[in-house]
Amino acid sequence: MKYLNLIFVLLTALAVTGAEENDSHIMPADAALMNMAESADSSTDTEHSGHDVQDMMPGMVMNKSADSSAETVHAGHEMHGETAGTGNAHASTGPVDLGAAVITGALGLALIIGMIAFFQSLRGKDLLEYTWFKKLLKNNLYPKILQIPTLFFFGFITYYFFWGSLSYSQNPGSILAWTLWWPLVPLTFILLGRIWCVICPIPLVGEFFQKFIRPTRRPGRFLIKYGIWITDGIFIAITLFDRLYGMVDKPWLSGMIFLLITGGAIILSIRYERRSFCKHICFLGGVSGNYSMLAGVSIESKNPERCATCRVRACYFGSGNTPGCPYAQFMPAKIGMRNCNLCASCIKNCPYDNVAFRTRSIASELWSHAKVSFSESFFAKLMVGIVIIQNLGMLAVWSNLQNWVMQFGIGEKMAVILLYFAAIVLPLALMTITSYLSSSLQTEKGTMLANFAAFGYAFIPIDVAGHLAHNLFHLLAEGKSIIGAFLGLFTGRVDYSGAVVSSSVVTGLQFGLIIAGGFGTLYVAYRIARAKEQSTIAALRIVLPHALLLVLVFAVNLFLFITPMAHRGG
Ligand code: SF4
Ligand code: SF4
Repeated sequence: MKYLNLIFVLLTALAVTGAEENDSHIMPADAALMNMAESADSSTDTEHSGHDVQDMMPGMVMNKSADSSAETVHAGHEMHGETAGTGNAHASTGPVDLGAAVITGALGLALIIGMIAFFQSLRGKDLLEYTWFKKLLKNNLYPKILQIPTLFFFGFITYYFFWGSLSYSQNPGSILAWTLWWPLVPLTFILLGRIWCVICPIPLVGEFFQKFIRPTRRPGRFLIKYGIWITDGIFIAITLFDRLYGMVDKPWLSGMIFLLITGGAIILSIRYERRSFCKHICFLGGVSGNYSMLAGVSIESKNPERCATCRVRACYFGSGNTPGCPYAQFMPAKIGMRNCNLCASCIKNCPYDNVAFRTRSIASELWSHAKVSFSESFFAKLMVGIVIIQNLGMLAVWSNLQNWVMQFGIGEKMAVILLYFAAIVLPLALMTITSYLSSSLQTEKGTMLANFAAFGYAFIPIDVAGHLAHNLFHLLAEGKSIIGAFLGLFTGRVDYSGAVVSSSVVTGLQFGLIIAGGFGTLYVAYRIARAKEQSTIAALRIVLPHALLLVLVFAVNLFLFITPMAHRGG
């Protein structure tokens, strides 16, 4: 209870700081745009400045000139990827007041620490001991009661992707998908693991077809073994495609990708039993699976001995009208939360009431899981580069890098592709070196690959922090457009835009997140090392090479968010 009070006090203080800041410093988004655009126009290098301003603030360009929105959006072709669709937080919300940013960052950090302490104090508690909670999860309405509104919500979004405005800032579907849903989803992963997956509309369509076709085929060895590599490939392809063609910026293109993914889910649902698409192929499933290892809750067997003698195995096979686990988890063999969407089917099915819904320490799965997976770990390391490149794309330095590559006679798109892969490959190469050094320092000699796999999980906190910090801007600095988009679901127009808090609040929170992620990642690396070594000294020795790299990744992330706003807008 005392932690809840602490969180409440911190939230109140945060809201007050944000509101004061907002009142005193906020610059209307359009005015900020015009200021930026004017300063760009009057720059000595007119061509580049104009390009950069458009790069950084297309959303606002569209707000300003609704009439020419279609043209502006297509002009946004030069605005690569996310930059194209959503603009720049700092440029759109006015100047940063350092003092206010520091206070907000400190409060944000305290909030994160409070949340970690809250889960720590509750760890091991079976929430099913609360009768109302148990009844809720056992009720046949769960999770349908969550799935049906989401299905309607995404139905609207899809409609507007294809039949709404061509302009991002005038399209309710685009705003609700990319300004609201996409930034909020990673937040749920940290607290409740893959809970998004239980309400995601994409597999629901596949499950509808499964009711008639009832496939019994299990995914083959190839899909089980290499599915995650296909997920890696799809994730790289989608983020690169976005950077090259501004997918987020073009509603119809977002709609096409959405339909393609839904089509893939339907095909796999028709061919294979359960949620094979979600488990083995979905790129968001890959991200949520990795991030869910941070989750403060876990579904697990209450008494493994009871499971060992169980004949019915209803958690896996199902019972009555409730199907077995959609992720093919057999409770005694279940490892962690990577493949669990909290659907509660196992809780409903187990005739011995032997499934617990426990709270646990945030991120503890990263150092305590029984089985290390090279492919999961690789995905975490891959995310380091992808998060960095997404953030880098919002800075003016991106254009400089691109121009530098193009001076060798390389075309614009090829320059983007080369930079993109360099950003992914460079961290992986450095991690290979640190894994080699660390493995050679181990008391019991291990292979470089085993070390690479074990310590890859340590990158997840900094991945999540960078990801959230990046998305926080879209959520807060474009927050008013979310209200406009909700209203726009009925009118087809978006009449509101702008920030809900000042730049200082956004910047402060971004820093709070990056600092929490940086320290979290170092702590996880240490715990992984401690699980391998008998003494603290030996653990510190093998963690040192990785820690140096993690500090570098931390510093790069700090740099990306510390870069002055003028540098972002050009
Ligand atoms: S969770 Fe229940 S149904 Fe599943 S193996 Fe254990 S006792 Fe059996
Ligand atoms: S383990 Fe249980 S809660 Fe998790 S996905 Fe399987 S059936 Fe659902």
